[in-house]
Order: sequence, then structure tokens, then C-alpha cells
Amino acid sequence: MLRALFISLSESHRLRAIAEHSSIGQRFSSRFVAGTQVEDVLRAARAVNQSGLTVSIDNLGENVTNADEARASAGLYHQLLDEIAARKLDANISLKLTHMGLDVDEKLAHDQVASLVAKAAAMNPKNFVRVDMEGSPYTQRTLDFVHELHRKPGNQGCVGAVIQSYMRRSQSDVENLLADGIRIRLCKGAYKEPPEIAFQKKSEVDESYVRLMKVLMKSSVYHGLATHDENIINQAKAFATRENIARDSFEFQMLYGIRRDLQQSLVRDGWRMRVYIPFGTEWYPYLMRRLAERPANVLFIAKNLLRR
Ligand SMILES: Cc1cc2nc3c(=O)[nH]c(=O)nc-3n(C[C@H](O)[C@H](O)[C@H](O)COP(=O)(O)OP(=O)(O)OC[C@H]3O[C@@H](n4cnc5c(N)ncnc54)[C@H](O)[C@@H]3O)c2cc1C
Repeated sequence: MLRALFISLSESHRLRAIAEHSSIGQRFSSRFVAGTQVEDVLRAARAVNQSGLTVSIDNLGENVTNADEARASAGLYHQLLDEIAARKLDANISLKLTHMGLDVDEKLAHDQVASLVAKAAAMNPKNFVRVDMEGSPYTQRTLDFVHELHRKPGNQGCVGAVIQSYMRRSQSDVENLLADGIRIRLCKGAYKEPPEIAFQKKSEVDESYVRLMKVLMKSSVYHGLATHDENIINQAKAFATRENIARDSFEFQMLYGIRRDLQQSLVRDGWRMRVYIPFGTEWYPYLMRRLAERPANVLFIAKNLLRR
């Protein structure tokens, strides 16, 4: 029930406007969001790199409503790619198609992402653009676009997709992506989807995750297993050991500020770990989805605020 409450709060425009402009809101978000400016996230990325973990940087924002906003978002990602190279950070970028203007002008969104992928592919060393997966109205369009981008000469290995294990269609989407050798981030899924298209029970979502995870780990493509679920992580480690899958042939991924203990212990044990670091002024829907996953985070953050 609390999950549903936080997911509907994540969609409230009014609360979002109030929260994002208040200083208490910004303090509240700081556990999971690395500040509002490019410098803030680059500093956080450097610190995470120094502790042996790689990074994916996400400029928070989704569903922009005009072309200027979409252009500004893409410009910021160009700046990020340049700064990552200049500062020699071990980091790539993650973006959402609706942040690049998909709801405003599909061609604009495609052109902007195509230009970011072309830039990542031309860099030395090459960088990588992950296209996040949003709610189900966008699933097919997002996958089609990633396939199209990946087919462009020079782009192979420089753009990847995300698969959500709660979606009933995911097995076939994984097969299609693997047929093209596309890198996949596997996650459980963060949006509210109806039972006709998505598993509702945690046990079903987890079973689907483990089934897909094994397919990815056995493929010869480098994938990301994005989860904080220790039980699933233990299954991944056991499967890798049993099947002789090299530890550097895939990576675990977690969100900034969540299970830092587990992130560190995986790296100490020789597994690869990437931290997804969000930043920016538009943190409200992101934070509400994190609270939906674990409502106890409200207490956890509140306690930290009182301690400061
Ligand atoms: C790197 C990364 C990228 C992602 N990209 C996308 C995307 O593109 N599209 C999308 O729909 N979703 C994305 N997600 C979110 C994902 O779909 C889940 O909503 C989220 O990861 C929670 O699921 P879980 O696998 O951690 O398992 P859960 O079953 O939700 O949680 C398992 C355990 O993990 C811990 N945990 C989980 N969430 C939290 C939290 N917020 N705070 C504290 N502890 C927690 C708890 O101990 C919990 O018991 C991404 C997640 C990660 C890690």
C-alpha cells in the first residue's frame, strides 16, 4: 500500500514543485542525489571511483514539455561526456528518452541521443550511453530506438538498453537485444504497471529476474545486473562460480546511497560494481520511487536530518 502511495506521490506535479524549491526538500534528497550541479556529481563520481567502483551519471529529469528544455538536457550530457574524459573518470552516462524530448518531438529526441552516442563512440577511450527504461507506454519505442542506434556503423558497444524483470514481455525483448549483441542492464522495474503486462507478486518478479539474469550471464555480451537484493546477488555469484563465468564479464549495479556496505564488500571480493549517481534539480519523482521501494527510508533520512 505504501508503495502505491509513494508512486502516486511521484506523479503529483504540485507536490513536486513545492518540494524541489524548498531547502528542506533538497536536504531530504541528499542521501540519494549527489547535488544539483555538474560539479557536485563529478566530485561524487571521483570519490566513488577512488573506492574502486565505476559510475553511471544520470541528470535527473523526465517528461520535458518543450524543445528548449530537451535541448538543454542534451547539452548537459554533452558537457558530462567532456568532463568525464577531461578528468579521466571511470564513468558513463544514463539518460531517459522523455528527458530528451520524446513526448514533445520524437525526431528531436532521437537526433539528440544519436548525437550523444556518436560522441561517446568517437572518444578515446570510447564511452557508453545507457538508455534507461521508463513506464510501459515507452517500452517498445525505447527498444526500437536502441536497436536502430546500435546498428549504426561505429556505435556497436556504445549504447545499451534496460530490461525490467516485472514485464511479462522481457524474455522476448532480451532475446532480440542479444541477437544484436546489445548490452543490457537488468532491473526489476520501478513503475506501476497493470497485471496484464507485468508480474505483481515480488516472488514472480524475482523469479523472472533470476531467469533472465542467467541468460545474460551466459551470453558473451557485457551486461549489468542492477539490484540491491542480496539473495539475488548471492545467486548470481554462485551461478558465476558454478558456470565458470569470469568476474570481469559482467557488473553489478546499485544506486547511489543504497546498500553502500554491500557495494564495498562486492568490490573487496573481486566483483565489478557500478554506482548509478543521479544529480540535478528535478529529483522529486526519483526520490519518491526510492521511497516506494523502501518506505522505511523516510525514517532513515529523517533521522539523518536530525543528526546534522
Ligand atoms: C543501477 C540501477 C539502474 C536502474 N535503472 C532503472 C531503469 O532504467 N528503469 C526502471 O524501471 N528501474 C530502474 N532501476 C530501479 C529498479 O527497477 C528497482 O526499482 C530498484 O532497484 C529496487 O529493486 P531491487 O532490485 O533493489 O529489489 P527490491 O526487491 O526492491 O529490494 C531488495 C532489497 O534491496 C534493498 N533496497 C531496495 N531498494 C532500496 C531503497 N530504495 N533503499 C534502501 N534499500 C533498498 C532492501 O534491502 C530490499 O529488501 C534501477 C536500479 C538500479 C540499481
